[in-house]
Amino acid sequence: MRGNAESHELISASSLSAVLAQLNSEPGTWTPIAGGTELMVAHAAGRLSASRLINLWGLPELDFIRVTDNSIAIGGGVTFGHIRNHAATADNFPLLSKAASWIGSIANQSRATIAGNIVNGSPAADAPPALLVYDAEIELISQRGTRRLPYSEFHLSYKRSVLQPDELVLALHLPRRFAHHKQYLRKVGTRKAMAITKVALAATALLENSILSEINLAAASLADRPIRLHATEAALLGKPLTPGTIQSARQELLTEVRPIDDLRSTAEYRKQVAANLLQEFLDELAQEGSPT
Ligand SMILES: Cc1cc2nc3c(=O)[nH]c(=O)nc-3n(C[C@H](O)[C@H](O)[C@H](O)COP(=O)(O)OP(=O)(O)OC[C@H]3O[C@@H](n4cnc5c(N)ncnc54)[C@H](O)[C@@H]3O)c2cc1C
Repeated sequence: MRGNAESHELISASSLSAVLAQLNSEPGTWTPIAGGTELMVAHAAGRLSASRLINLWGLPELDFIRVTDNSIAIGGGVTFGHIRNHAATADNFPLLSKAASWIGSIANQSRATIAGNIVNGSPAADAPPALLVYDAEIELISQRGTRRLPYSEFHLSYKRSVLQPDELVLALHLPRRFAHHKQYLRKVGTRKAMAITKVALAATALLENSILSEINLAAASLADRPIRLHATEAALLGKPLTPGTIQSARQELLTEVRPIDDLRSTAEYRKQVAANLLQEFLDELAQEGSPT
């Protein structure tokens, strides 16, 4: 059943501080809407429960990419079209650019924002695995001030996060320290474009004197939220990259992940594919090493 526009109210404010004041005055009453590519689909399907929406689209305070010597800050209102076309982001964080290029179609990418992708909280979303392996931090803002935390601590469980009703995602901060890491991101879906992820694996790693001195692994569609694979990382960190190490890491991954059966895939298929992706990444790393 289609949603009825008359049962929803939409307001726009002239500045970020005006939006924050509105959220603060009636916490939990107003739902932010940015590109609307999640919320308007829910509305069209008649399942948008939020009746009062406050518009974030076009707020300059959320729409920026700032490059400094040590990091890149991406405003919550930045679209994936902007991200995939941004040269410094592509140079420093190619996995994020790649993920941006997968989000729906070109038309979709010109509306879909990075904060919307994160806050929607889908375990299958494309941006989170890249953000997780780049050790991104997320900055939240409310009238009470700002707070910054590792993005890996943002999602609590299925569609639940630490975001409070009066808070917005102000920015993502990515440290520029991965130039010499081997980087990997692969998504398995039913086709190459416009496909929801069955399984995705992202990785960054440093191999020094044949020893894995750094390894970050993250996944989509392998749990109730986007996750870092800490136990699998621990099975690899500080080890020589031998066939035995790779085999142990595969086993650890199969134990660590908690995928579900759904209409796109079975849990067992997801586990086996994830282990194969990990093996693909580690085999490439063993053959090529990390970039010098
Ligand atoms: C045809 C189509 C194809 C798609 N394909 C993909 C795909 O391949 N991969 C993928 O990952 N996604 C896909 N999506 C989903 C969607 O485009 C993304 O999740 C998008 O990034 C959502 O951003 P938005 O700005 O449109 O969010 P909105 O719909 O505006 O909002 C989504 C949620 O985020 C909240 N929100 C938005 N901005 C903020 C903020 N700054 N602070 C706090 N809360 C905020 C809203 O309150 C809402 O809960 C697709 C969607 C469509 C319609």
